[in-house]
Amino acid sequence: MRRQYIIISAVCWFILVAVSAIWNISQIEGAHQQADVQVAKSFFELIVTVREWNAQHGGVYVPVSDLIQPNPYLKVPDRDIHLPNGMMLTKVNPAYMTRLIADLAQKGNRLRFHITSLKPINPGNAADVWETQALTSFETTALLESYTWNDRSQIFTYMAPLITQSSCLKCHEQQGYKVGDVRGGISVSFRSEPVTIWPILLSHTLIALVGMVAISVFGQQLARAFADLERLSQIDSLTQLYNRRHFDLYLHREFLRSRRQESPLSVILCDVDYFKSYNDIYGHQAGDNCLRQIAAALAATVKRPGDLIARYGGEEFVMVLPDTTAAGAIAIAELVRAKIETLNISHKGSQVSNHVTISLGVAALCGDLKEEVLLERADQSLYQAKHAGRNTVASAVMSQTV
Ligand code: GH3
Ligand code: MG
Ligand code: MG
Repeated sequence: MRRQYIIISAVCWFILVAVSAIWNISQIEGAHQQADVQVAKSFFELIVTVREWNAQHGGVYVPVSDLIQPNPYLKVPDRDIHLPNGMMLTKVNPAYMTRLIADLAQKGNRLRFHITSLKPINPGNAADVWETQALTSFETTALLESYTWNDRSQIFTYMAPLITQSSCLKCHEQQGYKVGDVRGGISVSFRSEPVTIWPILLSHTLIALVGMVAISVFGQQLARAFADLERLSQIDSLTQLYNRRHFDLYLHREFLRSRRQESPLSVILCDVDYFKSYNDIYGHQAGDNCLRQIAAALAATVKRPGDLIARYGGEEFVMVLPDTTAAGAIAIAELVRAKIETLNISHKGSQVSNHVTISLGVAALCGDLKEEVLLERADQSLYQAKHAGRNTVASAVMSQTV
């Protein structure tokens, strides 16, 4: 996993947590609003029930006092009754009663009722802007409730229509209302605290941070593991040189670069002479050690950053030398050959020397040539070197398409 994957994972995690926080907040706000609506609805229904009770009795009489004066908008002949004992009773119809209860409620607690209509008999019951909109929508659509929340005052207001019942016609028939008509509405308002979102924000911030740290820590561990794995997949375990797989990729890359830049590219194939008999005489373990020593010597000889040495297979090694001409490659091959000789690894089974030697085939290309031909030519050169008596360098230089 590279650095950009860690960043992408962290960003995805952050977006996921942010979406979760937004979803949770919207759920809580929705539930909070539903609770407000339920509370307001209960109040509304209670008021409507009380009004209905009042309407069923054609209004109720209460003693006139400082708290209740005769309703000037109630134009009925028997509105006020004088009792023989001097007490005066006045009729309280549903609308007046609603107003009186609303006044009482507003004094005592945070609740506010407002009975209103688009055609109020009492101008004091006129609708405000929002109530007018709500009443209009009740009259023109099938909407049966409306509510709003004022951010600044934190007041939740619910409104539902007052539907004309038969008991209402006693007083309202002369206004032209029929049963089922929207006669007005009652709005219920109360203070509603805003939803507390900081616990959600805090918990999600914590979750996001913990996740980010985990992604960063495990991501880096994973990145290191991937890098190790990638490196291991390129390395030959016996010699610690690059393996054949990596060599193939590297040669292809360098071949394309050489063609693009018209720069020279050389390849050297190395093969240990009479290595089978080395194994036979000294054993496989000693053979492995010998290969390790040769690999180390090859690696020590070639020092340019672009040069690559790989184990080609068995007791064969290969060198890729970018920006190196045939002459340069032959010189390096000769250097390598001599270096292996100086290792002075005893080899009684060799027919060319009493110590381990290698044969080398050099191929260099300039200009337009197929990639596989380069290796073929290196192999042919190696074959020539073997035939020429081993412990020697042979070369092929190509400059045209084959
Ligand atoms: P030539 O000079 O013609 O190259 O003769 P050679 O004996 O080196 O060639 P041959 O191809 O006949 O034998 C190669 C030997 O290399 C055979 C095999 O046992 C040995 N070999 C290949 N890979 C390994 C290895 O990883 N470890 C050891 N110890 N030996 C290996
Ligand atoms: Mg061989
Ligand atoms: Mg060999």
